Amino acid sequence: MNHSGPAVTTVPRFEELAAPSHWRTVEFISDLHLQASEPATVAAWQHYLATTEADALFILGDLFEVWVGDDAIAETGSFEAEGCAALRAAAQRLPVYFMHGNRDFLAGPAFLAQCGITGLADPTVLTFAGQRFVLSHGDLLCLDDVEYQRFRLQARSAEWQQQFLAQPLATRRAQARGIRQESEARKQSGVTYADVDGPAAIAWLQAAQANTLVHGHTHRPADHQLASNLQRVVLSDWDAAAFPPRAEILRLSRAGLERQPLAPKYERS
Ligand code: MN
Repeated sequence: MNHSGPAVTTVPRFEELAAPSHWRTVEFISDLHLQASEPATVAAWQHYLATTEADALFILGDLFEVWVGDDAIAETGSFEAEGCAALRAAAQRLPVYFMHGNRDFLAGPAFLAQCGITGLADPTVLTFAGQRFVLSHGDLLCLDDVEYQRFRLQARSAEWQQQFLAQPLATRRAQARGIRQESEARKQSGVTYADVDGPAAIAWLQAAQANTLVHGHTHRPADHQLASNLQRVVLSDWDAAAFPPRAEILRLSRAGLERQPLAPKYERS
């Protein structure tokens, strides 16, 4: 129980992943929020998957705008089936790691298996070229969003998920549409969203004995120096139809981290 005094930052357990020595480059993406109504972003993503020369791909959450259950993949011609096929083709060329976001947290073991990709716990420490990187979607660190943190706790429980998934697929799709409309309305109202909590990010890095936190979720791409040797690198969201288009890959090599913009082909002329 929490008594008086300053708020205590809870540091989660970190999974560990050591990059094999033959990996020369790994790439990070997040927050594509893929949906059938955004075909330009879907096309940009498919092109990226088919052409990336990275040795491994890390998807750090909110690849899909919504995920209503793995059984959606089996629906002929569904958006989920199409997305899974693109992931499966990529996974034949390079290892693909998938971390849940707050939109696609219901993507389950059947999704991973059918797409041939590997689930990644949030947070995970990736060791690459002797350096430790904390990988997270980032929502857990937005401590000021109390209402969301409460929902997150509930929605990640087995009971809530079983109850939601027990409903017919069409019902789940309708519910997801309702939630999305609410969230769009909230966005239009100009509400400002909570950002990652600085002290909490530092606490995570210190506990993980890492220097760099890589995360998405906030849609505020930037590099933040948290302390002399600690940094927070925020991934961009994707919107290929925006002007200028937003879509960026974060590439890690022995030279360090580098932001790579979307291929020119997808930039509006
Ligand atoms: Mn998110």
